[in-house]
Amino acid sequence: MPKKIFKLGVLTSGGDAPGMNAAIRSVVRTCSHYNIECYGIYRGYEGMIEGDFKLMEARSVSNIINRGGTILKSARSQEFRTPVGRKKAFDKLQEAEIDALVVIGGDGSFTGAKIFNEEFGIPVIGIPGTIDNDIYGTDYTLGYDTALNTVVEVIDKIRDTASSHNRLFFVEVMGRDAGFIALNAGVGAGAEEILIPEEDLGLDRLLESLQRSKRSGKASSIVVVAEGDKNGKNVFELAKYVEQNMPEYEARVSVLGHMQRGGSPSCFDRVLASRMGVRAVELLLDGHSNLMVGMKNNKIETVSLEKAIKGSNHIDKELIRVSGIMGV
Ligand code: ATP
Repeated sequence: MPKKIFKLGVLTSGGDAPGMNAAIRSVVRTCSHYNIECYGIYRGYEGMIEGDFKLMEARSVSNIINRGGTILKSARSQEFRTPVGRKKAFDKLQEAEIDALVVIGGDGSFTGAKIFNEEFGIPVIGIPGTIDNDIYGTDYTLGYDTALNTVVEVIDKIRDTASSHNRLFFVEVMGRDAGFIALNAGVGAGAEEILIPEEDLGLDRLLESLQRSKRSGKASSIVVVAEGDKNGKNVFELAKYVEQNMPEYEARVSVLGHMQRGGSPSCFDRVLASRMGVRAVELLLDGHSNLMVGMKNNKIETVSLEKAIKGSNHIDKELIRVSGIMGV
């Protein structure tokens, strides 16, 4: 028989992502619905070690569904990687009588949660919050949809200047080792070429493709480059290489950077966060642990934290094919 839960803690950890606040709100309000206390844990595992907790009620999360970032703040904690640090965190939870955790973050945060559960038996449920969409067990992570919309909006603007000056723009987007943002935002923004780590097309193919575009009458082009692309050159070297081989082009580079992580979450991310938060709390109340909440085929599903950490999401080959046809 699982232990009854009376006090739940929620934290955000790792890189922030739009939709984290909507998930916090959902967790807090679901706790309120089921009459259990909910504590916000500030600054991820760092705040857990320091006992930085605050009781949250339904009204504590008013007007945050529309805000980017995380009101609980996020942090990367070196100390939590050590047994001593985790013991301190456990002692603080015990002092506050917090008996279950919802961890909103990426695979590193889930690894920490899983180890913590194994060591101290505190039930944990993960909610995937990262713009990179690189977590196994869910079609969408929180923040990914918002980041896509941000990137498309910015590339639309870059295209205005690219076409006014007959320029070739290399736009580097986030995604760590995955090309989800690059591929989807690239197709959405009508990029001529998209370079992603999952598919190494080689530099010759890139030149050929740009030359073909030029011959077909295109005066400007946008090449979207995933930050983790494996062509062997960084985006600046890539632009230089193309300029050297195609002197008719004036190449420019735009590295979008952290703006991709900010901003008000899209409706999709807000709804997803609301659904995931409710399920996360209900799973804990039903005695489950060590699971991540995800969405598969528009249904909220669960996967073990272990699989979420070890598995990888595959890029949509069909979308790569579509992008090839669109880029003619
Ligand atoms: P993002 O995808 O945005 O990087 P993340 O959750 O993967 O998010 P990490 O920095 O990898 O971000 O992990 C967040 C925190 O989780 C770390 O700062 C650390 O406190 C904890 N953590 C990560 N890996 C471990 C581990 N092996 N053992 C204990 N704690 C860990």
